[in-house]
Amino acid sequence: MKALLWDGKPLPEGFYLDDVEKPVPKKDCVLVKTKLCGICGSDMGIITGKMALADFMAKPLTFGHEVVGIIDEIGNGVEGFKVGDRVVVDGAAGCVELGLEPCDMCRLGRYSLCYNQAMLGGGLGYNQVNGGGFAEYFLAHKSKVYKIPNIVSDEDAVLTEPLAVGIHSCFVGNPASKKVAIIGAGAIGLQILQASKVMGALEIFVSTEFEYQAKLAEELGADNVYCLERGETPATEITMATGKGVDLTYDAVGSAQTLQDAINITKPRGEIVFVGLMREAKIDFLMFSVKELKIYGVNGYPLEPQVARTPFDIA
Ligand SMILES: [Zn+2]
Ligand SMILES: [Zn+2]
Repeated sequence: MKALLWDGKPLPEGFYLDDVEKPVPKKDCVLVKTKLCGICGSDMGIITGKMALADFMAKPLTFGHEVVGIIDEIGNGVEGFKVGDRVVVDGAAGCVELGLEPCDMCRLGRYSLCYNQAMLGGGLGYNQVNGGGFAEYFLAHKSKVYKIPNIVSDEDAVLTEPLAVGIHSCFVGNPASKKVAIIGAGAIGLQILQASKVMGALEIFVSTEFEYQAKLAEELGADNVYCLERGETPATEITMATGKGVDLTYDAVGSAQTLQDAINITKPRGEIVFVGLMREAKIDFLMFSVKELKIYGVNGYPLEPQVARTPFDIA
């Protein structure tokens, strides 16, 4: 089969199309034929060298963890699926994919925080075992495969994974009855916006870089949108509009500047959910201490004990 491989060199080098062996579904796995695959912001961060996650990946590898496909072959021990089913795949890997006894995290359903994940390199699109969506076929464990309802198009279904990230971010931040700011209106920020509305946010402020993102945020129901490209200064304007700041801020960008903005626009005893990814940054933490803020990390979409479902399942 054809696969797009990446050898670790930052763009514009590093990628090449190659013939590789078509995977054979092992026990408890299905082989999926790719229909659509999304390009994640984290993929872009890795291949441009901005995000040093590549240090933790075995190469060459095939990217792609936002996938829609058709089941092509079924391994032993798989029930409830048939060849031809249209599916999305939760790419986060845990002990179950490695055939190990579940670790403490996996036992609690927190498979995206699995202690043994390093052995697998994080799951679909990040390792050499399962492959990734930028190939004709890839492997998926039966516990991570979801049939797509007929009313959902391929183009909508391919956003299941980023929506799951948005939903988990909202379970972490709990936006119900709060004034909420979302910094960044890319794929993830816009999913956080929609999940925050469903979960009962009181008022939602969105800070965007580009005009097209601002328009989308308005269409998707943000109460107040501030856009750098329109010449606005989102952090200042959100602070002025709210007086003392918002109760909860999502940083859906992940940079020194956006985390600094999050600290500045969140009111005393407020909370920040840091959804973006970054390594080193220079931040002034004085107001973080002065205001007694809290900050939470987000990694994938582990089980939400409040509803006993995974965000991927909800998405
Ligand atoms: Zn992603
Ligand atoms: Zn585990």
